[in-house]
Amino acid sequence: MLVVKKFGGSSVADKERIFNVARRCAEEYQIGNDVVVVLSAMGDTTDDLLMKAEDINPYPSKRELDMLLTTGEQISVALMAMALQFLHVPAISLNGFQVQMHTTSRNGNARLKRIDTERIRHELENRRIVIVTGFQGVNKYDDYTTLGRGGSDTTAVALAAALHADKCEIYTDVEGVYTADPRVVPNARKITEITYDEMLELATSGAKVLHNRSVEMAKKYGVELVVRSSLNTEEGTVVKEVVKVEKMLITGVAADKNTARISVIGIVDRPGTAFKIFNTLAKHNINVDIILQSVGRGGTKDISFTVSQEDLREALQVLEDYKEALTIQEITYSENVAKISIVGAGMLSNPGVAATMFESLCNSNININMISTSEIRITVLIDEKDADKALVAVHDGFGLED
Ligand code: ADP
Ligand code: ASP
Ligand code: MG
Repeated sequence: MLVVKKFGGSSVADKERIFNVARRCAEEYQIGNDVVVVLSAMGDTTDDLLMKAEDINPYPSKRELDMLLTTGEQISVALMAMALQFLHVPAISLNGFQVQMHTTSRNGNARLKRIDTERIRHELENRRIVIVTGFQGVNKYDDYTTLGRGGSDTTAVALAAALHADKCEIYTDVEGVYTADPRVVPNARKITEITYDEMLELATSGAKVLHNRSVEMAKKYGVELVVRSSLNTEEGTVVKEVVKVEKMLITGVAADKNTARISVIGIVDRPGTAFKIFNTLAKHNINVDIILQSVGRGGTKDISFTVSQEDLREALQVLEDYKEALTIQEITYSENVAKISIVGAGMLSNPGVAATMFESLCNSNININMISTSEIRITVLIDEKDADKALVAVHDGFGLED
């Protein structure tokens, strides 16, 4: 059997944790399985590297940033190989370049395109545990790229798909996927099984327990995922196509504080203006999320929308550059906003789900600024200061507590 095991940053944060992971991988190896391990950077390494970069240059080039960030994962894999060797288990570490993880060229947010499996297979045939850097790849210019924050999950799923692994396990610092972030909602419940579609909506809505692209990829290639704790042997959460468990109305709630609102005010009210604004942003690779159009002063209109905080500066710059062509009179923005989402296939057949969500928010005196929906998700934009309170209120409003 071939098993891919991914361990996140907190699971390899120090010497003790590294040996804990090494022992778990050795056990898997010793029962005769082939083991591929994917690691993130130790503890807060990625954040620390980002701070170091900012200290030197507040607007570092994305190429150099990736050059820096990829070192974090390289430290983890080398130390893990040393730990396994110390335990007399044959192991070898490989980075994104050595494996040849081919990605698109976009630094900081690249997508995996193709993985060469030859080297890994060769090492497995020699009965070594293969330890691979998560989060990184190489582009067509032979430059390092990274897959976006939390991207090691995606590396693991991509490897599991490419190697036709029998199991893909994502080990983290909680026991699985919960009905809400258990650090914010202490009475959140562990979910036994969840569909790819629901997990994708939760991950995209801010439940960072899995990188959203990893779920997208798992669905595409039919890789069943298990999310579980690296610190105990409790059964985790299975992410798969069809689940057997009884459907709840709502599967989970999530909060996303990494969001910003932009409003363009006083634009001319004629066909094509919205198209021009969003087309201009799209051409600069800026993803726009919730959109709200309203009537402005003197026959004009206003449009508000959200972008991720990383894209805010560039979005404002682009709008400023094209201000006249887009007929914008004024641009305002706020970073003090957050999205709260409820996710669940149960809402397809149950009217009144939105009303229940809004009632919970209203009872907690939380104002809704914008609303957006998909088939199995409802998202509201609120003030960031209310985010944790809102998560608890909505979670309890649907009776999701343990
Ligand atoms: P890793 O370093 O292992 O990749 P992450 O910090 O990326 O770990 O993701 C795990 C964290 O995700 C948990 O510590 C938890 O606070 C957070 N989280 C957010 N939403 C959820 C959820 N619905 N279920 C479980 N954990 C969640
Ligand atoms: N180390 C990277 C990050 O902190 C990738 C990951 O943890 O998945 O975002
Ligand atoms: Mg993660």
